[in-house]
Amino acid sequence: MYKKQQNKLKELKKELKQRIKDIKESLTSKRSQDWEEAAVEAENDEVLEALYSESSQELLQVKFALKRIKADEYGDCAECGAEINKKRLKIMPFTTLCIKCAQQLEYTHR
Ligand SMILES: [Zn+2]
Repeated sequence: MYKKQQNKLKELKKELKQRIKDIKESLTSKRSQDWEEAAVEAENDEVLEALYSESSQELLQVKFALKRIKADEYGDCAECGAEINKKRLKIMPFTTLCIKCAQQLEYTHR
C-alpha cells in the first residue's frame, strides 16, 4: 500500500547511515598540531556534532516509520490516530504525526 514511501524510507535509511558513519569518522580523525588549524577543526566539530545528532534523530524517525509500515499503522498519527495528510506523507515520508500533533510537539519543545 505504501510501497513508494517504504522504498523512499529505505533509501533514506541507507543515506543517513552512511552520513552518520562519515561524520563519526571525521569526528574521530586526528586533530592538527597547529593551534590555528585545531581551532578551525574544533569549530567544524561543533557543526558536525550538530549534524550528527540531527541525522541520528532522523534515522530513528525513519526506522519508526518503516516499523509502522510493517505493522500497517503507517498513515495514521502515532499520537492521536488521525489520518495523516497524504501530501504531508509524500513530502516527509518519515513523519509519524499528523500536522496538528507535530505542531503541538514543536510548541512544547520551545
Ligand atoms: Zn495527531
